[in-house]
Amino acid sequence: MMGENPTSLSNAKLNTLLWLGRKLNAAIEMEPFLQIVVESICQLTSSETSSLFLFEAETSMLKFVAAPRTSSIKLKRLRVPLEHSVAGEAYTTGKPVIINHAHEDARIYRSVDQELSFTTRSILAVPITYRHEALGVLEAVNKLGGAQYDDADLMVMETLASYAGTYLFNAILLEEALQASQALEEMEKKKNDFLAIASHELRTPLGLIVGHASFLRDLAQFDEQTQSQLDTILRSAMRMRELIEAMSNTHLGSTSQKRLKRKSFSINQMIEEVVASFSAQATQQKIQVRVDLPAENLHLQGDNEKLAIAFGNLLKNSLTYTEPGGHVLVKVEKLPGFAKVSVIDDGIGIPAADLPHIFDKFYQVESHLNRRHGGIGLGLSVAKVMVEMHGGQIWAESIEGKGSNFSFLIPVDLDQGGKSTSIFAA
Ligand code: ADP
Repeated sequence: MMGENPTSLSNAKLNTLLWLGRKLNAAIEMEPFLQIVVESICQLTSSETSSLFLFEAETSMLKFVAAPRTSSIKLKRLRVPLEHSVAGEAYTTGKPVIINHAHEDARIYRSVDQELSFTTRSILAVPITYRHEALGVLEAVNKLGGAQYDDADLMVMETLASYAGTYLFNAILLEEALQASQALEEMEKKKNDFLAIASHELRTPLGLIVGHASFLRDLAQFDEQTQSQLDTILRSAMRMRELIEAMSNTHLGSTSQKRLKRKSFSINQMIEEVVASFSAQATQQKIQVRVDLPAENLHLQGDNEKLAIAFGNLLKNSLTYTEPGGHVLVKVEKLPGFAKVSVIDDGIGIPAADLPHIFDKFYQVESHLNRRHGGIGLGLSVAKVMVEMHGGQIWAESIEGKGSNFSFLIPVDLDQGGKSTSIFAA
């Protein structure tokens, strides 16, 4: 439809079109941009007024979204049907519509004129499309001086409609991306709230079960079978407590250091204490745990309890995923400015495809349906949070069927956090 030679447009008009084209790239808000488009229609096509409609999916009608400032504010509330309207025809056919004698043309949607006490004499409507998708319609209304819309006007309108199409399509994409990321954030928040509330609520009744079961067991006045049943209740309750702790630790999500208790502590001592707490389990599973500590006692500035949780989760996993007769080596090394802790096992290992995901919340290599081990897939994500809160890094190396090596680096001084990357770069 671009029948007119562009040179028949005045320089002033071409300049305005070029200027508008450049605006497309500027970070301009939707409303001001559309306002410029409709004001430009009046100026460039010598029209009394103009409008921009967008298709509204809920009503299947075209909705006015922009008109020159001088237009009636009533316009904003109006909608135009796709049938029996000029805008609707341009939208559905994807082709421009020019009407120079509106009073005798049945296609004019008269209710708008009546509502606004306006008389439409001529209209030039062009569809706004982007990649063959119809988005809306641009209209120039009432050519001034009783003149007729011509090919030069059509070319101006098609250029403006193509600008509007590009702009609107980008704006729609951006809006959709924003909405999707907001929805994700809300879901993440709901999940964290649920975990926080559920773990909090479960703690109290579980505390009572543990308390009463320990009391009964310590009475030691039951027969062997009852004592053993009490032991089972206690063990299971303790296991539940571990799971609940893992749940309540995940919503710490942020890597901020604000939640850290800072104090100087001996990493050797922390490691020995945690290893001791797992020694019964290791013996029962016939797994040999060896600890290799630096001769010199290494002191860290940080949160002893949180690092004990991180290390405990790694050690627990190494015992869980190593067959009886296997070996676990816990190694602490002193590096310049850092302590490195490694938990190395000769267990079942992790398939290469799963390795990049194991620190994700709820990620488990075996599916829930055929899991041989307990756990809810939170241990490593909790360990990651705890280590990163200290400005440290955690990672894993593993070969399926051969074993795994989980390590973390912690800055000796908490304020040195984040510099651990230099170690990796070296
Ligand atoms: P889970 O509660 O399932 O143990 P984690 O977050 O602690 O959750 O670990 C995630 C997954 O990583 C586990 O389900 C397991 O498949 C794998 N994994 C973790 N540690 C080891 C390990 N030492 N050896 C083999 N697989 C491991």
